[in-house]
Order: sequence, then structure tokens, then C-alpha cells
Amino acid sequence: MEFSEVTSTFSEMENTTKRLELTRILANLLKKANNDLKFIVYLVQGKLAPDFEGIEFGMSDKLIIKSLSSVSGLSDEEVNKIFYKTGDLGTTAMEISKNISQKSLFNEDLTVNYVYSKLMEIAKFSGHGSIKTKMDSYMDLLMNSKPDDIKYITRIITGKLRLGVADSTILDSLVSAFSDKKYADIIENAYNFHPDIGYIAELLQSGNIDAIKNMGPEPLIPFKVMLAERLKSLADIKDKMGGRAAYEYKYDGLRTELHQKGSEVKIFSRGLEETTQNFPDIVKNFKDSFHFESCILDGESVPYNPDTGELMPFQIVSQRRGRKYDLTEKTSEIPIVMFIFDILYLNGKSLINLPYPERRKILEENVKENEYFKLATRIESDDENEIMKFFEKSIEDGCEGIVSKNISEDSVYRAGARGWLWIKFKRDYQQEISDSFDLVVVGAFNGHGRRKGTYGALLLACYNEKKDSFETFTKLGSGFTDEMLSELPGIFKSLIVDKKPARLDSTMIPDYWIYPSKVVEVKGAEITVSPVHTCAYNIIEKGSGLALRFPRLIKFRDDKNPEDATTTEEIIEMYKMQKKTINTKEKED
Ligand code: ATP
Repeated sequence: MEFSEVTSTFSEMENTTKRLELTRILANLLKKANNDLKFIVYLVQGKLAPDFEGIEFGMSDKLIIKSLSSVSGLSDEEVNKIFYKTGDLGTTAMEISKNISQKSLFNEDLTVNYVYSKLMEIAKFSGHGSIKTKMDSYMDLLMNSKPDDIKYITRIITGKLRLGVADSTILDSLVSAFSDKKYADIIENAYNFHPDIGYIAELLQSGNIDAIKNMGPEPLIPFKVMLAERLKSLADIKDKMGGRAAYEYKYDGLRTELHQKGSEVKIFSRGLEETTQNFPDIVKNFKDSFHFESCILDGESVPYNPDTGELMPFQIVSQRRGRKYDLTEKTSEIPIVMFIFDILYLNGKSLINLPYPERRKILEENVKENEYFKLATRIESDDENEIMKFFEKSIEDGCEGIVSKNISEDSVYRAGARGWLWIKFKRDYQQEISDSFDLVVVGAFNGHGRRKGTYGALLLACYNEKKDSFETFTKLGSGFTDEMLSELPGIFKSLIVDKKPARLDSTMIPDYWIYPSKVVEVKGAEITVSPVHTCAYNIIEKGSGLALRFPRLIKFRDDKNPEDATTTEEIIEMYKMQKKTINTKEKED
């Protein structure tokens, strides 16, 4: 396929913010893709491969500017001027490409395959001498592609394609192009266990629905972890669980997927990022402790004080994210224990369809605890007093609370799903204030007075899972330190877009639209009905949505993707829970 077909689809997609329309336009392209399908779906994601393969372009804006100046004969400063005016390197490259006179002599249509392989060349080379190779490959594309093509190619390289499609939109387009709506859930489930859009696309294209149906976890390929719902009282949890259930400590660390196959051990975060290099101690200790043919474990890594054995706060482990650790230095200063609470795979066999009690039994039989690997502390009970004691003990032992787990025959491992098979109960729910929210930054307002020159507030949205859209929920202006405030424009600079991002429902118009990418954790005083926010619009009250009053920042959640934000459904549940508590209190009074 010619790349110009991809370009015209991208440009059509840019002109709509409606999800159904995006899905339809993309499906039309995918139907025609033939052998290029895999490349195209990665390119739509703005990538060359799934995240867990760790393929990055490693080409800075500066290098792109240098290449543009080399090819056009303009100075770096002149290119920068155009960049400053357009605010987008893609458009800058397009403008420059239009003016390269000799181009028209060579200008043939590039194929998707050619563009993909050149992009791969850019990504593949790193280290000494790679700058020249990267520039050469980019300049090749620049010289040989049409102006519109290079606009998108440049945006892909600089990570700014931003077509507004989430993976679920691409999956829907694939279903519409190659399959049947009745398989949508099965396909989503397969993707949750094997989150490689190119792989799933090719299976669907070849009509191999059996492979999709049978997709389970695979050692060394990260899966989307199972998540928990929340309830505010133990009585409600017991009700929902239908009586007896298991209760486990809820450790406050970093979600950890540990995969092993033969001599290879890999660790992934809940965001499917490979973090093996950040945890050389876990890898070494695992290899020393266990000798399975293969396995996949799910758990939480928590730092502890080796002198007292006490668990330490999550922030200490999060410092390890993104850094390479020297096994002999830092890792011994902050030892880590992995609390394992599930097993998905052992010695060549998937265990996900076994009920949770059986998986736990397999864990107990195979994973002998030691200093570095422990099984989550747990009880099984239907006695509220006993469960409350267990909860109190969990807090005393440095945990956040407990997670209740369904023990029925149906308690399978559900990848990527937040469901009622797991229900969390945290310390916060006991207090007046509701749980924290993880919200996506979608806009910013200019500051005034003391905040002149920076932002006065951020517009935050939750995620509507059913509609695959973002809905505004609150305006955040508190909880920032002065230092953080001054850094905000810098943090969001590269995410500012000139119109309302696709899939965002907002009636508010901020001074800056921000492409949904960063997630922040906030706490608030109360959820109220609001005429200005679009969260759960028309659901609780006609003509109104829900809003969070008095929000304050807790922290940035760099481990979460926008689609991991608190969902509209969860907020509705929390609103109902809050109403119930107020009603009970009023009755008591
Ligand atoms: P929170 O902000 O409340 O931690 P979250 O959005 O990060 O929530 P949730 O699914 O809502 O994630 O809460 C469950 C999280 O608790 C899991 O992702 C996991 O990291 C952690 N956890 C700790 N101990 C357990 C356990 N025993 N079983 C399951 N999850 C556990």
C-alpha cells in the first residue's frame, strides 16, 4: 500500500472528534491494508511495536531541526522560526518539504513498508555514531515523501501523532474490518493477555478466531493486570461476595508482573512497561530461589527496612522507576519484598481459568516463602468482626487496607478488568472524605496574581469506559507547592493542542487544551451534582453532571495511562455510596 493512503486517512481522522466516525474511517483503511496491516496499526498508535518491546525513536526535536536545515539549506535558526510559528514540527517539516525544489524530480509515492523500515532504522540505532544514521534515514524520508506524508512521519518520530484513538478504538476498527461484533469481548480479552495490536490484527485478518478465543497469558509477554472494585463497608462487601470470601492485605507498593521462561526473567509494571532493569535484586533472588520451567506471578513489590522488617512507603520504590540500579549499591540500601497474590501460569500451563482458591493452592505448593518472596497474608471468613480485626491488623502492618477476593467456581483471573471478583477496602473509606481519584489533565487555566505566568488551575477528566471518552469532573488549583506550580507550564508544554482533543466531552473552555496523557491523583471533599461538568451527564440528574468539590493534588501518577483513570461508573458508585452514608448519618442524628 502507498503511504499516501495512510496520510489521507490520518488527515480525515484529524477532522473528527467522534469515536464512531474515527472507528469507521480507520476500519476502511485497515480493510485495504493486506500485508501492511501490522505496520499500519502500530503507526496509528504512533509506534513501531508494542511498548513492551521498548522500541523508541530516540530522535530529539533538535536533531529533526538539524536534518530539516541540512536538506533545505535553511539555517537552524530559520527552521526554528518556522517551528515557533507553527508550533508543530510535523507542520514545519511539511512547509519545508513544499519548498525543496528538487524534490519533485524524485517524488514518487512511498510504500508503507518503505516508511516503516526507514522508521525502524531510526529507532534501531543507538549509541556512538547513531546520530548520523538517524539523520540520514530521516532525510531520506524527507527527500522522498510528499509534504503531507512527512508531516505525519515527523509527528510519529516526535511522539506527537495524537489522532485521539485509544487501543480500544483500534480494536473496534479491527472488529469492524475483519470480524463480527459478537466476538468483540473475546477479542478484547485476547488483547488484554497479549497487548500487541499488530499480532491481534494479523490473527483477525487471517480469520483465526480460534487462536483469539484460546489466547491466554504467555511467559515474557506482559498482560493487563486484574483490578479491584471498591466498597465503603465490610457489610456491603460481604453482600456482594455472597457470604464467605477471602481477604488479603492490600500492600502499598508497585504492581509487579514477574515472568520466567527457562533462564530468562522479566518484570513488567501495571502500565506494561518492562522494568526488569530497575529490579535486578528481584531477578537475582528469584533465580536463586525458584527453578520452574516457566511461570507468571502477579504481586506487589514493597520496600522494607531490613533492621526492623517494617514495610516502607510506596514512594521509595517509585524512585526506582526509570532508573538503572547498581545491584551492589542502592538495591541493598532499599531491599524489596515481592508479595505474590496470584499465579497465572506454571510450567507450560495457563492457570487463569481455575478458580482463585485453586490458584492460591498452587502458589502455596510451589512458591516457598523466603526473605524476598512472600505470599499475600490472607484469611477466609464471613464473620464481619473477624474481617474488621484483620483489616485493622493490615493497617498496623503498614498496608493500605484489604482486598476481598471471590472464592466461587467462577473466580477466574480476568486480565485488564475492574470487576466485583476483587473488592478493595481502604482506610480512607472509613473517614468522611472519599477515596482518591486518578484523573486525566485535559486543560489548563492561566494563573492570576501570585500565579501569574503559570497555571492557576488544571481541568481534570475521568474516563468513560463505555463511551471510550473523557468527561470533565473538576478544576484543580490546590495542593501544589510553589516549585511545582512554576514547573507546570513546562510539564504540559509539549501536550498543548490547539483544539479540544478527540474523545473529550467538555462544556468548559480552558485557556489551553491539553492532550489526554498525564494522570494525577487528587482527593476531594465531596461529589456534587454540577451543571458545568460532563462526568455522568444526564445520569444522576437531567441537564447535569457530577463534580468533585475542593480537589487537592496528592501526586502525579506516571504509572497510569489515561484509560486507567477513575471511570465515570466508579464515580457514580462513589456518589451513591456517599449519598447512602449521608442518609444513614441523618437518620442516626
Ligand atoms: P489504588 O490507587 O487504590 O491503589 P489502583 O487504581 O492503583 O488503586 P486498584 O485496582 O484500584 O488499583 O487497587 C488494587 C491495587 O492494589 C492493585 O493494582 C495492586 O497494585 C494493589 N494490591 C496490593 N495488594 C493486593 C492484593 N493482595 N491483591 C490485589 N491487589 C493488591
